[in-house]
Amino acid sequence: MIHLSKRHRTVPVRVGPITVGGDAPVVVQSMTMTDTTDAASTAAQCIELWEAGSEMVRVTVNIPEAAAAVPEIKQRMLDAGCNAPLIGDFHYNGHLLLTRYPECAQALDKYRINPGNVGTGKRRDEQFSTICKVAVDHNRPVRIGVNGGSLNQELVMARMQENTDRGLGRTSEDIYNECMVLSAIQSTELAIESGLRQDQIIISCKTSKPVHLIEIYRALAKQTAQPLHLGLTEAGMGTKGLVWSAAAMGALLTNGIGDTVRVSLTPRPGGDRREEVYAACELLQSLGLRSFAPSVTACPGCGRTTSSTFQELAERVQGYIRDTMPRWKQEYQGVEELTLAVMGCVVNGPGESKAANIGISLPGTGEAPTCPVYIDGEHATTLRGTGDELAAAFQKLLDDYVERKYPRRDPVGHAG
Ligand code: SF4
Repeated sequence: MIHLSKRHRTVPVRVGPITVGGDAPVVVQSMTMTDTTDAASTAAQCIELWEAGSEMVRVTVNIPEAAAAVPEIKQRMLDAGCNAPLIGDFHYNGHLLLTRYPECAQALDKYRINPGNVGTGKRRDEQFSTICKVAVDHNRPVRIGVNGGSLNQELVMARMQENTDRGLGRTSEDIYNECMVLSAIQSTELAIESGLRQDQIIISCKTSKPVHLIEIYRALAKQTAQPLHLGLTEAGMGTKGLVWSAAAMGALLTNGIGDTVRVSLTPRPGGDRREEVYAACELLQSLGLRSFAPSVTACPGCGRTTSSTFQELAERVQGYIRDTMPRWKQEYQGVEELTLAVMGCVVNGPGESKAANIGISLPGTGEAPTCPVYIDGEHATTLRGTGDELAAAFQKLLDDYVERKYPRRDPVGHAG
């Protein structure tokens, strides 16, 4: 069996009711894509992301009207029973918004500062320091979020010049990656000089290329004990965004690096923002780091089954779990550990089905039109039919199993 590397040791940072770093499990987070000035729809998306598994939610705070809307967003979340920490993402004018809108500073649970765009020269340090001092006054943590697309160019130019003057022969990519780390480390020192404690600072250094991200975070992990927020920035759409994010963050997480993750997917127009949350949860669950929802093993299909029944059933079961999990996790203790299998023929069907808590082996081409169901390794029943009828019967078995197997939580959500 492959074991993951020992977790890189970091200082625990409290973000509202959540701990990031230390011994805490790796935390999933996401970001809204609504207009923050629209408090109702932004709060609704925060709640939706939280229900999907995002344990912290970030909103952009870019203009005075957005800062003014933050307290209402937070209140709407609390009124809906959503206690996910609300994080404000600041660029360029964070020092102004946070000082002019103290209710916004108070309502937020954490501030994200990008040291690459809080100003230039002496003003950069002053404005960065102003945000840190607001965080001190409100006893809030910050994330120092360096980004490859907005890296401090003065730092880069100085290093490039040094490379030329001293004939160091380093590539511009090497210099860029080194400057990402340096920007984070120097900004952390400035934050501490501005009065923040070490247990109030999280760091990220996001870039859009997996190999660079891996190199940067490995260097960061050697140089800092601050918790690390992982994310491949601008990962892109669909398969590309998913694979690149998983390749980069998977490599780091298996090395024990990373305390919180965000998968930055570009949704299709009108697409579902929760996809990035599902991806982050699946990433952590695939590595055995967290359990968020029952997992569905399904075979890829091949020439042994020409029917699409197993695909339709697998899709329906996956959808049912996503829709039901927000309620299940409030009601049942441990339901996220449940495993399911939906298989296409007799070759691997019974084997995988027996290995799951509930597995169904559908008939391949030429096989008898029966669907044996295995529960905890034993043949429990045989279903027949296709489509709605088959899905409803399997769903009933699933509901009965959850009800029977997992203890109910008490009404305030603690394990009973
Ligand atoms: S279980 Fe059967 S249908 Fe599915 S991939 Fe394997 S051989 Fe093909």
